[in-house]
Amino acid sequence: MQYKFADRSDWILKNIVILGSTGSIGESTVRVVKALPDELRVVGLTANSNYRRVLEQAAELGAEHVAISDITQAAKCAEEAPAGVHVYQGADSVTQLAAMDGVDVVLCAVVGMAGLRPVLAAVDRGYDVALATKEVLVSAGSIVTAAAAASGSKLLPVDSEHSAIFQCLGGCAATGEDHHAVRRLVLTASGGPFIDRHDIDFDKVTVEEALAHPKWDMGRKISVDSATLMNKGLEILEARWMFDVPLDRIEVIIHPESIVHSFVEFVDGSMLAQLGVPDMRMAIQYALTYPVRLDGGLPGLDLEELGALHFRMPDESRFPCLSMAIEAGKRGGTMPAVLNAVNEVAVEKFLEQCITFSGIWALVRKVIDEHQVVDEPSLEDIVTADEWARGKALELLGADSLTD
Ligand code: NDP
Repeated sequence: MQYKFADRSDWILKNIVILGSTGSIGESTVRVVKALPDELRVVGLTANSNYRRVLEQAAELGAEHVAISDITQAAKCAEEAPAGVHVYQGADSVTQLAAMDGVDVVLCAVVGMAGLRPVLAAVDRGYDVALATKEVLVSAGSIVTAAAAASGSKLLPVDSEHSAIFQCLGGCAATGEDHHAVRRLVLTASGGPFIDRHDIDFDKVTVEEALAHPKWDMGRKISVDSATLMNKGLEILEARWMFDVPLDRIEVIIHPESIVHSFVEFVDGSMLAQLGVPDMRMAIQYALTYPVRLDGGLPGLDLEELGALHFRMPDESRFPCLSMAIEAGKRGGTMPAVLNAVNEVAVEKFLEQCITFSGIWALVRKVIDEHQVVDEPSLEDIVTADEWARGKALELLGADSLTD
């Protein structure tokens, strides 16, 4: 029997903008679009500095609009761009491109808080946003979800865990749907490279060790966040806003195989899960084709080969970033933005080998302890708190050694 999963007769080609197209999620998105050329069309691409790759992608995909935020590289891009490709240049260029005319979905895969203004610009235009950049909801979840509710823009999750929950909830995100039937959300975590390394000295972890994720090939920042489990903490805060479910009903479980991407437990005790191979293209494609499922050539699971799946609780005492993120979420106001900002600085400094791996959570602890929280913050309060946290982190790094 032939099952019909999607009625494509009324499909209208979707125009997509990819913010951060040269990164790990960006490149996976390009592959998804190439696999569905009659359904998805890229009209805009952005990067920070890697303009050569952006121009290659524009040629491969026929995109006519590109943005480069680094001003020097943007000028080179404008010189080298072929006729017919319009280059937006400088700090605001990504935001301008996110709000250009004629877009259906803006996929945001810019790393960190740099994604906030572009996402808000897309939301304000009423465009749907496929969101990979979890830092945006962590820092400014109240602002972004309120803006989406006002404009009618849908926030479509790209993080695999959130995509799983979205699918288990039947495609309901933060758009006012009633989630009283939900008892809890359970986010799965691979645990990163150190979850079973009880022998490891966190003061001596190298950058290469921290980047060597056992299951996922990702950008450098999220790979380090996965190793500290800060990523899972950020995902809890992201889920709180994406699904409008209180923090005390969001849990984490370690699942080393990364096959079950997350669970929803309902009040009647029934649990739904979404399973799939660990490949980000699955979540990206669902966000771009939602609410329809299409065959983009992705493989299914070989259940017999898998044999068994394992689950256990995380040891928060070994990974303090997880509990610090939950603590920041419970405090609310500007605290999650501060947690996110100091973590961005700490990860960058670890990657530059200026602080140790354990120095990441030492720095986060110090900065969040010094923050004077603003409750019910405006966008300006959040931006100010973010800047304060970055400045405080650098001041503390200059003042004393967190590498001791
Ligand atoms: P990468 O570091 O691989 O890519 C980041 C992209 O953003 C690049 O295109 C980069 O351009 C661009 N960029 C970086 N800084 C800026 C800036 N200041 N202004 C404009 N553009 C900028 O990141 P990932 O793809 O790994 O992650 C992106 C986001 O998706 C993160 O928030 C991450 O948490 C989230 N995510 C990632 C997953 C993954 O599997 N990688 C899974 C789930 C979520 P350039 O190349 O020029 O530097």
